Amino acid sequence: MKITVLGIGGFRNEGLSFNAYCLDRKILVDTPPDILQSLAKTGIKLTDISAIVLTHFHGDHYFGLPFLLFNLYMEAQERAKEAVYQEQRLTIFGPPGLEQKIRQILSLAIHPDHAYIPWCFEHCELVEISAGFRYRLDSGIWLEFRHSVHSPETFSVMAGLADSEKPLFAATSDTKWDVSLLPLFDSGAKLFLCDSNGRGFGDVHMSPEEIVHFVLPRLSGNARLLATHVSRTPSFQAGGLEFAVPFSDYQVD
Ligand SMILES: [Zn+2]
Ligand SMILES: [Zn+2]
Repeated sequence: MKITVLGIGGFRNEGLSFNAYCLDRKILVDTPPDILQSLAKTGIKLTDISAIVLTHFHGDHYFGLPFLLFNLYMEAQERAKEAVYQEQRLTIFGPPGLEQKIRQILSLAIHPDHAYIPWCFEHCELVEISAGFRYRLDSGIWLEFRHSVHSPETFSVMAGLADSEKPLFAATSDTKWDVSLLPLFDSGAKLFLCDSNGRGFGDVHMSPEEIVHFVLPRLSGNARLLATHVSRTPSFQAGGLEFAVPFSDYQVD
C-alpha cells in the first residue's frame, strides 16, 4: 500500500499545504481548502479517486470538498460528450450528519440552486461512519474507523489489504492524547500518521513530547511513525521523532 502525504499543515498554518493523504492514489483522506493544488503536485488525478474520507468537519479537513466536486462535475459534463463514457462513482465516508454538511458547504461555495449539487448527490454514495465497522472497498483495501478525542466527532483511520486482517496503516486524525488511542497504536500497523499539533502535555492536540513519551516506546521495531498536522515547518528533534514530508510517497507492505 502506498501512502501519499499531500500536506501536513493544520488550521493554524504559516503557509504549509494543509493536512491530507491518499491511499494507493485512489482513497483520499480529507479535503482541505488547497486539496486541488496538493493533488496536482503529486500527479493524482481527480478521476482516479474512488473514495473520500472526511475525518471530521473542521475547515482544514473539508473546506476543499466543493472545489473537488465541482471539478469532477465539470469533467463529467465534458466526458459525457464522448462516444464511450463511463460514469465515475465516488463513495464519501464521513461523520454522522454527512449529507447535511455536504449540502451546506456546496450551497455556500457557489449557490444553492447550482446544478453541481444534485449531480453530486446522484454520483456520490454517502456513508456515515460507524466506529469499529470494517468497510471493504472495491479497490481491495479495507477501512476501519475509531473515535478520536476531538471536538467535533472525529474518526481515526486504519487501512489494510483485503487478504489480511491486520492493518498496514493507521492515522490518529486530529486528537488529544488519551489512553483510548492505545488500541490504534497496538494494532500492528507498520506505518502511523500522528497528530502533533499540541504543545507539552495535556493540550487539545497530541504533541511531539507526548508522541515520544507515550507512543514511540509502544511501537514494534518495524513500525514507522510520521508526525503531522503542524503549524510551521517542523523543527522538533527529540527521541527520533520523524515528521511526514509533504508530497512524498511512503510504501508499506
Ligand atoms: Zn485539523
Ligand atoms: Zn480538527
